[in-house]
Amino acid sequence: MSNPTKKAIIHDFTKEELGQMVQPPFRAKQIYNWVYHKHVDMFHEMANLPKSLRAELEERFELHPLRTVSRQESRDGSVKYLFALPDGHTVEAVLLLMKEAQYHEDGTLKHHRRYTVCISSQVGCKVGCAFCLTAKGGFVRNLSAGEIVAQVLEIYKDRGIPSNHRVNLVYMGMGEPLDNLDNVAKAVRIFADMDGMSISPNRQTISTSGLSAKIERLGKMDLGVNLAISLHAVDDALRERLMPINKAYNIASIMEAVRNFPVNQRKKVLFEYLVIKDVNDDLDSARKLVKLLNGIKAKVNLIYFNPYPGTEFRRPEPEAMRRFQEYLLGKGILCTIRESKGLDISAACGQLREQQLQASEGASR
Ligand code: SAH
Ligand code: SF4
Repeated sequence: MSNPTKKAIIHDFTKEELGQMVQPPFRAKQIYNWVYHKHVDMFHEMANLPKSLRAELEERFELHPLRTVSRQESRDGSVKYLFALPDGHTVEAVLLLMKEAQYHEDGTLKHHRRYTVCISSQVGCKVGCAFCLTAKGGFVRNLSAGEIVAQVLEIYKDRGIPSNHRVNLVYMGMGEPLDNLDNVAKAVRIFADMDGMSISPNRQTISTSGLSAKIERLGKMDLGVNLAISLHAVDDALRERLMPINKAYNIASIMEAVRNFPVNQRKKVLFEYLVIKDVNDDLDSARKLVKLLNGIKAKVNLIYFNPYPGTEFRRPEPEAMRRFQEYLLGKGILCTIRESKGLDISAACGQLREQQLQASEGASR
């Protein structure tokens, strides 16, 4: 299906690009303010724009590209969304909620809501990991920058999140972000615009299955984003079985790309390690992992494999998780086990459920 409206999605454009599309250019800043701060639903509401410009925008641009197909709220406050794109394909995004205790200057303890939004970058995925539900449907298409940006905006609107609220973004939904690097990089910049959502790149984490060449390219772009590597295995034979992409980019090439990646002073590279029972949950793997990470400012997040009907893999025992974690901690490597939030949200997607705040918060510790 093609885009029935044929209009350009307004969120596809940086402020500078919009400035070249409307007259006079300073209107772009005002439009950004209406779209990303005031969260208006119609161009007609953009009160400080001349009527003629509002009409022109209405004619040329789509302001509401996503339709919420379903929304499932978990008891812990996390919400999983299924969005339909203009051409009818669907993608998922998840709002993760955590209460954070913080001491104020006057010594009082306050609880803040802390949000992380997990967003999709593609419809489907080409990478074809054996454990991943997204892979089963094959690859359909890349999302445009605006389709990525609009996921977050829809969630802000739905939950009434004020535009100045501190939100972290993780590109851990459907798709391989580095396989859609140009659009993802553009989305990073649009999110970061100070006249827009002001989500600084250091609160955005790109998770990749390890496309080494693209990691190098992302590094050279110097966007200031955090990097998460979905490692999952410490030797090439097993990794090839789990992630066929490892034939093209083996573990050594990934580690080399990580070493070259510009990491923010106060941050670490996050290594995600999906733990699968009797596959990679042994201490020998933990030992090899420690060796691999030698000399890298790394943090490890152990993820429980999330089973789904038809999969050959099994969820690991909590005891195995703890043993693995303790081994890493004993070697001085920061390592968290992320308990599932939103477990009571029914999970069509094998991965979104288990993905947590770890990247955005964890990478900064
Ligand atoms: N394609 C990117 C980003 C999206 S996948 C990547 O692979 O990094 C996000 C995370 O979900 C990855 O770490 C992936 O390994 C994990 N994941 C996939 N299937 C899973 C499952 N069944 N249970 C738990 N995590 C899963
Ligand atoms: Fe694609 Fe990531 Fe799933 Fe692998 S884990 S198939 S890279 S979405």
